[in-house]
Amino acid sequence: MRRPLVAGNWKMNGSRASIKALLDGIKQGIGAVTRAEVVVCAPYIYLPDVEAQLSGSPVAWGAQNLSTEASGAYTGEISASMLLDFHCRYVIVGHSERRSLYGETDAVVAKKFAVARAAGLVPILCVGETLAEREQGITEQVVARQLQAVIDLEGVAALAAGVIAYEPVWAIGTGKTASPEQAQEVHAFIRRRIAASDAAVAEKVQILYGGSMNAANAAALLAQADIDGGLIGGASLKAEDFLTICRAAN
Ligand code: PEP
Repeated sequence: MRRPLVAGNWKMNGSRASIKALLDGIKQGIGAVTRAEVVVCAPYIYLPDVEAQLSGSPVAWGAQNLSTEASGAYTGEISASMLLDFHCRYVIVGHSERRSLYGETDAVVAKKFAVARAAGLVPILCVGETLAEREQGITEQVVARQLQAVIDLEGVAALAAGVIAYEPVWAIGTGKTASPEQAQEVHAFIRRRIAASDAAVAEKVQILYGGSMNAANAAALLAQADIDGGLIGGASLKAEDFLTICRAAN
C-alpha cells in the first residue's frame, strides 16, 4: 500500500512573516493527519526558518530546485549538500516552470534527479504535457520521454527512491484542473510504462497529481486508483486549504 503524500510548492511566494503564520496554521491543524506524509517546499532563503519551525513536527520540508553540481564556481546555485545542512528531505526537480522559463532539458532534470538521490534527498520528478501537446494527442509520448531520461541515466529502480508528479502544464496555476478521469488515465499510463521494466518499482512509486488541485477538487482526484497524493501550488499558501487537501489524502 503506497503512503499518500501531499507536497506544497510555495514557488517564489511569501515573506518571513507570512511563512511563519502559514506554518503556525499548518502545525495547529495537522494533528489528525496521520497516514499521509505532508511536505512543504520553500524558497531556499527561508529554509532555516522552516527547519526551526517544523523540527519535531510531522511535517517534512524540502526545496524547489537544486544544482547539478556539488560545489564550485556556480554563482547563485544551491547544492544537494547545502539542502541537507538544513535537513531537507525532498527536492522538486523538473518543475515545468524550470523547464520552460529556465531552459532545463530532460537531461538536466535527469542529472538533478541523480544528484538528489545520490545525496539521500527524495527527488519529486515533475512530468507533464503542454496544452498544445495534449491537443496533438502526444501526452503519453511527452511523459514517457521525460521519464525515460531519468531511466536512461539512473536505471528504472532509481524511480522507487523518488516520487513522480504528473503535472499537466495547462493545469498549473490556471484554475483548470484535469478531471479525475483524465489524470487517472495518465497516472495509469506512467505506472504501466514503469511496470513494463519493473513491476515492483511500478507498484511502489508514488505518483502525485499537480495542477490547480484545491480544497474543493482534491477528494475526487485523490480517490483515483493511481493518484497517490498531490503537488499543490496556489492552495498550499493557505493553511486551511492545504490542510483540507491533506485530510482528503489521509
Ligand atoms: C505547481 O506549481 O506545482 C502547481 C501544481 O501549481 P498550482 O497548484 O497552483 O496549479
